[in-house]
Amino acid sequence: MTQAPKKLFIKTYGCQMNVYDSERMAETLGASGYVTTETAEDADMVLLNTCHIREKAAEKVYSDLGRLRPLKEAKPGLKIGVAGCVAQAEGEEILNRMPLVDLVVGPQSYHRLPEMERAVGQGGRAVDTDFPEDDKFEALKSRPKAKRGPTAFLTVQEGCDKFCAFCVVPYTRGAEVSRPAERIVAEARELVEAGVREITLLGQNVNAWHGAEGGLAALVGQLAAIDGLERIRYTTSHPNDMDEALIAAHGQEAKLMPYLHLPVQSGSDRILKAMNRKHTADQYLRLIERIRAARPDILLTSDFIVGFPGETDADFEATMDLVRAVGYGSAFSFKYSPRPGTPAAERKVQVEASVMDARLQRLQALLGEQQRTAQETMVGRETTVLFEKPGRLPGQMVGKSEHLFAVHVQAPESLRGEIARVRITASGPNSLAGSLIG
Ligand code: SF4
Repeated sequence: MTQAPKKLFIKTYGCQMNVYDSERMAETLGASGYVTTETAEDADMVLLNTCHIREKAAEKVYSDLGRLRPLKEAKPGLKIGVAGCVAQAEGEEILNRMPLVDLVVGPQSYHRLPEMERAVGQGGRAVDTDFPEDDKFEALKSRPKAKRGPTAFLTVQEGCDKFCAFCVVPYTRGAEVSRPAERIVAEARELVEAGVREITLLGQNVNAWHGAEGGLAALVGQLAAIDGLERIRYTTSHPNDMDEALIAAHGQEAKLMPYLHLPVQSGSDRILKAMNRKHTADQYLRLIERIRAARPDILLTSDFIVGFPGETDADFEATMDLVRAVGYGSAFSFKYSPRPGTPAAERKVQVEASVMDARLQRLQALLGEQQRTAQETMVGRETTVLFEKPGRLPGQMVGKSEHLFAVHVQAPESLRGEIARVRITASGPNSLAGSLIG
């Protein structure tokens, strides 16, 4: 008699890197007999793959864990684990505060999940928040051959050496580490064999990748040579790591999509310095000029922090000026909130909440206007769309344009996973509509 598979539910918080890590955790636990399930109620093991970027991240995880208590009481064999950046930051403390938690695993150690799961099965509890010598990517098995959707993430770089004054990543994810090119290319081939047509390369500082000579531009070139891989993107980049070769690749490599997320955070030199971003607003603007010279239709997106400690009205106006000068396709903007353990959290000159609110509103109104303009300029243009799934209307499919806009098109379902030429006909609140060409 074959044993029924054990069921694994993973809740993923935060960024795309966590989405990728959750997939790899599920794959590695697959070797221990787990299949994924959609609900915690149905699971034999629940993993919270956490993020430490947002305010009160750890408290939110503790309260989510509290909500799992009745489930654990009803099903004492249920294994509960905490992974990701909160696991890294809190470590043992999670076990101390939450007796229902069986294992705590940091982002660099999750290849050890099968052993940890076994230890828990024998009645123990396990913590691993090392930055181990053995490379987790080497230890993880090849990606499963099962058919996949047309887009995938692929982590090529982890960690950060930049130490922006507001950010916990250098402490939770450790120093910058690049995966070797041959491993990345092999993984990309496996993804393409499984049906993937578009890969987004991921890293906390993806353009600091240095796994082979020539940096990220050389890696993009190697990946572009893979038959069947049609589109390449990468995120998140630091302005100071945009080298000339990578800028040139945007003009020369047809598979590299005309889209770039390049966070600037502020337009004020004083605040950029206090943030330890290591560039000025003008250097950023000159960089954008060079990127646009290489690829005039590139769509730029960014991140902004409003109300960084010490930010004056004049500093904020400098941010508004920078936004007007660039013209973004979209952007994420947040009010500053201190992260314990970061230098900015120690600064005494915090900006009043009401001032932050007003500034954020003005910034978001401007960014929203720019997003509408970016979408409207697409109307009447031809683009290609990679179709991912049926739309809400009968006979409709939804996919992503080269500029990463969602596009709704009347199209047969047989186009799922295919790239087709589309003329954009209309712009809606958060997506475009188009019709197939030819
Ligand atoms: S570059 Fe700055 S914001 Fe980005 S991960 Fe590193 S420290 Fe954090």
